This record gives sequence, structure tokens and C-alpha cells, in this order.
Amino acid sequence: MLQYDLVIVGGGPAGLAAAVSARDNGIEKILIIERDNELGGILNQCIHNGFGLHTFKEELTGPEYAGRFIDQVKERNIEYKLNTMVMDISHDKVVTAMNRVDGMFQIAAKAVILAMGCRERSRGALNIPGYRPAGIYSAGTAQRLVNIEGYMPGNKVVILGSGDIGLIMARRMTLEGADVQVVAELMPYSGGLKRNIVQCLDDFDIPLKLSHTVIDIEGKERVTGITIAEVGPDRKPIPGTEEHYDCDTLLLSCGLLPENELSKTAGVELSNITSGPVVNDALETNIEGVFACGNVLHVHDLVDFVSQEATNAGKNAAKYIKEGESKSSRNVQIHAVDGVRYTVPCTIRPEEMDDTVTVRFRVGQVYQDCAVATYFGDELVNKRAKKIMAPGEMEQVILLKSKLAEYPDLKDITIKIEEA
Ligand SMILES: Cc1cc2nc3c(=O)[nH]c(=O)nc-3n(C[C@H](O)[C@H](O)[C@H](O)COP(=O)(O)OP(=O)(O)OC[C@H]3O[C@@H](n4cnc5c(N)ncnc54)[C@H](O)[C@@H]3O)c2cc1C
Repeated sequence: MLQYDLVIVGGGPAGLAAAVSARDNGIEKILIIERDNELGGILNQCIHNGFGLHTFKEELTGPEYAGRFIDQVKERNIEYKLNTMVMDISHDKVVTAMNRVDGMFQIAAKAVILAMGCRERSRGALNIPGYRPAGIYSAGTAQRLVNIEGYMPGNKVVILGSGDIGLIMARRMTLEGADVQVVAELMPYSGGLKRNIVQCLDDFDIPLKLSHTVIDIEGKERVTGITIAEVGPDRKPIPGTEEHYDCDTLLLSCGLLPENELSKTAGVELSNITSGPVVNDALETNIEGVFACGNVLHVHDLVDFVSQEATNAGKNAAKYIKEGESKSSRNVQIHAVDGVRYTVPCTIRPEEMDDTVTVRFRVGQVYQDCAVATYFGDELVNKRAKKIMAPGEMEQVILLKSKLAEYPDLKDITIKIEEA
């Protein structure tokens, strides 16, 4: 069996930043395992700009952003295996993987970082009536076809779901000559970033119909038309609001799900809300020495936050490899209530934590002129007013070790949305 200090599953931005950080924190034997034929993850198909404003203070395309981290991995001679799929991770951190050259092989790792990214919610998970003709694609598949394979999925397009990939594909398909007729969104708010609504829909006069869904798909061999309708507060279609569009393509952009099959079989505890692992401030899962970061942990809006989180995961994995598990004297639980859907991390170890810990979360609806309130037990310790908060954008609260030290008996932290 091969022996490595650290095995990183996934060579996307999370895996790359985690590897660089672990090496910079003194870990020599690192292996990144990537199932695709190149490093970089989903960024390789995101040829639009807007990446890296926080990390590099410049606007890069996805491949350029990934390229900066790939260079850092190569400069440090960190080992990686491409075209290699991790099949299993055991409770005691034996990683089973396979590829065409080595066949099936096993690696005993001192620590593992999960960085497998996420996948798109499929049509099967959406319960749309109608036949199953050609012409229905997830927005990410269409993105890959257009940007990497060089194929146009269709000419007259309707998009269901206003997640970022759908918004970006509305613009991309338009630039490639397609007629994007409408983006229909089930919820009364968009699931994507505000800047993407402005730059990808408004700038191209593509209508966004909130509280609308697809109620019929026509066509037997190929999509010939789509009917959408307005939905009520119960999200059921309202009779009489139907609108028909002649089109040959339906793109689905209805949410991303962390890719956690491996985590499940490894025995990693998963959150019901994010579908990603439950982690502490070190981004360590319930399995000692198994860490998680990036979209496999929770779906991020900006890759810069993925890189920051992964840098932390790499540093903490290095600490674990060098010093072993630091038995924490106490764990403080973080509760997400009143509009806060979840938090990452879920627990904090006040004695072992870094000087600051960034707690990231998303809200469950659009809030205007509200505040993010943080309570230590019943005591309000911080209240930050926000003009607007939306489910499509990640929010954060920064916890200070020095502040937590003032509360030696603290058991619970609560983060909630309140009136400003
Ligand atoms: C369409 C789209 C547009 C975006 N636009 C922006 C933007 O404008 N600005 C911005 O900042 N961010 C944007 N993002 C977000 C950003 O790209 C992601 O947050 C980031 O790529 C997530 O990184 P990751 O490493 O967690 O996941 P990924 O990039 O998905 O990487 C995960 C890697 O793990 C590999 N893998 C999975 N399972 C296995 C296995 N079993 N064995 C081996 N390898 C495995 C996968 O092949 C993949 O390469 C966008 C994302 C998408 C999808």
C-alpha cells in the first residue's frame, strides 16, 4: 500500500489551495487525486471573467484563476494523479482509487482533505411533466459543450432556475447567437448573485420571471416548446397564467449539491441543510484527520472564499499530521436560527481555534434593512446592519478568540437575522 501524509480528493480550486497551504506548513508527502484529465475543476469551463477580485485584486477568467494555483502546485513539486477516480475512503483513512495505468490501488493517508466540489440538480430531481425529448440540458453541461467541446446545444432557449450558472449561460448563449427568451425562477427571488443578474440578463434584455416554473415540455424527438406559469405562495401553478414559448432547448439551473457519496461511505456526518459535512472551526469532520473545504462542504458563490477556506483546511491538516489530534476541552455549538439557514463551521473550540474564525452562512429569503445578530448564550455581542441580504450571496460573521476567552462557560453561540 502506498503511504502519504496527506491525500486530497479533487484537484479543483479547493484541492489546489489546500495542497499549497499544507506544503507551506511543512508537509512533504502530499498527493492530489483528480478524476478529470486536468487540474482546475469547474473553473476550466468558466471562461467568463469576474474571478479573483478578493484574492488577486484583479478580474481573471476561471481558467486564469485556476492556472495561478496550478502554477503554485507545480512550483512546489506537489504530486498529483489525473484521470484517477477515488472510489472509497475508509474510516481509518485508507483511500482506494483507480485509473487506467495503475488499475485499482490503495493509499494509507495520515490525513485526508475532501475537495470533490458539487454537482447540478438533475431534471429527474425536479418533477417536470412532459416527454423526455432531446434538448434538455443542465446549465453546466451546456457550459461545457459551448466553452470546451465547441458545440451549440440549441438556438431558441428557455432557462429554468436563476442560479449563477443559468444566468451566465443566458449571456453566453446570447453571445454565441442563440435567442434566450426567458429565465423562469420558482422562488420570488433569484438564486444567483446580483451582479450576474445585471451583467447577464439586464444588459441583454433577457426577462427574469420570478415565481414562475415550467409546467409543460413539448416535443417527442426534440424540444419544440415550453409552457411556464406563475406560481402562488404554495409554489403551485396558478391557472390562467400560462405562457408558451416556441424553443428547441431548455436549460436547467436549479441548484447545486455537494458531491458527498464518498463522504457518506467514509462515515462523515452530513448536514441536512447543506448536504455537506458537519465541521468544526478547523474544518475537520467527525472523523479525526478528515477535513473538508470548497463546494463539497457548502456551495460557495465566489471562488475566492473557496481558496481562503481551503488554505485553512490545508493548514489545519498539516497541524494534525505534525501534532496529532488536539483533544479539545470544550466545544461551543453554533445555532443558525431566524433566517440563517446554516453555518459553516457548526462548532468552535475556543481554546484551540485560530485568533479569528470566519463563520459563513446563507439566509433563507431576501432581507432589506436588517441586521446579523450574534449572541453568546443569551447575550447580544454583535449586531451588524445590512442594507440587503439574499439567499444567492454568502454572508459571514467573524469570531474572535480573544472575545470568546471572556466567556469561559459559554456553550452556545446563536446567529440570527433581526430588525436593524
Ligand atoms: C458556472 C459557474 C460559474 C461560476 N462563476 C463564478 C464567478 O464568476 N466568480 C467566482 O468567484 N466564482 C464563480 N463560480 C464558483 C467557483 O467556480 C466554485 O466555487 C469553485 O470552482 C469550487 O471549487 P471546488 O474545488 O470546491 O470544486 P470544483 O471546481 O468542482 O472541483 C472539484 C474537483 O473534484 C474532482 N472530483 C470529484 N469527485 C472526485 C473523485 N471521486 N475522485 C477524484 N476527483 C474527484 C472533480 O473532477 C473536480 O475537478 C462559478 C461556478 C460555476 C459552476
